Amino acid sequence: MKITRIETYVCHARMRNWIFVKVLTDQPGLWGWGEATLEWHTKAVVGAIEDLSQLLIGEDPRRIEHLWQMMYRQHFWHGNGIVRGTAISGIDIALWDIAGKIHGVPCHELWGGRVRDYVRLYCHLGGGRMEDFYETSPADANRFAALAVQAVEQGFTAFKSMAVPETMSLEGLQPVKYAEACVRAMRDAVGDQIDIMVDCHARPSPRMGLLFAKALEPYNLYFFEEPCWPETMDDIAMIQRAVKTPIASGERLVGVYAFREMLEKRAVSVIQPDITHCGGLTEARRITALAEAYRVSVAPHNPQGPISTAASLELGFATSSYIICESVHQDVPWRNEVVNEGFSLQEDGRLIFPNKRPGLGIEINEEEVKKHPFQTEILQRTFYKDGSVGDW
Ligand SMILES: [Mg+2]
Repeated sequence: MKITRIETYVCHARMRNWIFVKVLTDQPGLWGWGEATLEWHTKAVVGAIEDLSQLLIGEDPRRIEHLWQMMYRQHFWHGNGIVRGTAISGIDIALWDIAGKIHGVPCHELWGGRVRDYVRLYCHLGGGRMEDFYETSPADANRFAALAVQAVEQGFTAFKSMAVPETMSLEGLQPVKYAEACVRAMRDAVGDQIDIMVDCHARPSPRMGLLFAKALEPYNLYFFEEPCWPETMDDIAMIQRAVKTPIASGERLVGVYAFREMLEKRAVSVIQPDITHCGGLTEARRITALAEAYRVSVAPHNPQGPISTAASLELGFATSSYIICESVHQDVPWRNEVVNEGFSLQEDGRLIFPNKRPGLGIEINEEEVKKHPFQTEILQRTFYKDGSVGDW
């Protein structure tokens, strides 16, 4: 059995271009789907996949670990960078899809079988319309409360919000009070039965991140995400030691080595590997195995397209420490025309039940994808009030 071709399909889905990866084999009707979506780097990732395909054409697709090692270690440059890591991930996910199809079982059956009955989902406030959320002026506490109630009405028992405003490396009391008011309003609106998460997008400095974490501690967040740059692991650890709130991070990390540092430093209570960036399902399984040794929970970053979601769910059904999956459920109205998914959703509670189809259980309609060609993503240009550069 040989890999004969690796194709990419770019599908513009409002906020981002989904990059679907199709690995074809010399067996009639046998191919695998992966995803390698990386906003603002679409052309670079498509090019990186084309470069990597030179290594893989003619190779046996069943040798997933061997091919992963080739992709990571050959061509001299290791695969730690986000573009190469994403390209490797897209191909690796497709190889696991092929493996499941060869054996006629879902991917989670290949990894020791199902460890849970369902996977719980959480949403973003705004129903996934994140770009609208960011473009409008800062929301007030009442708006956050209304969005929180709406999420609960849609069946979610957990949601994430961007209640921490952008700040310079040090600002006074106002942004901290603002964040506290927004979280208090959400908690008052939904009560104690609903899990609230706050994502800082790693915008704050370590000191501001600590001030926000301390201020929000009384509201018992399910987790507090990326309180400062992931480049400064000691600072994330400092914040985690200072509060009882579980700290989460890891969506921008590539490779088990980066997560090893995060875990060794006890920096977080929740790791958030992104399966389309961290090195695919092969590397995600190494990362989650390492996290198991530290009894750290797993909640994958998953705001991309449907193949990323399918891969994240397959991992969830085979990973005991997996607690919840991110979902963007209202991204494009034509989602079901582009993709056919093997999972079933219970709207009440937003629970996903296992895929019973082989592999990832997903098929992509290539003709529908072609109706949504590449468009440049909305440029994110964030500046503080004095004109200096901020993080988006
Ligand atoms: Mg995040």
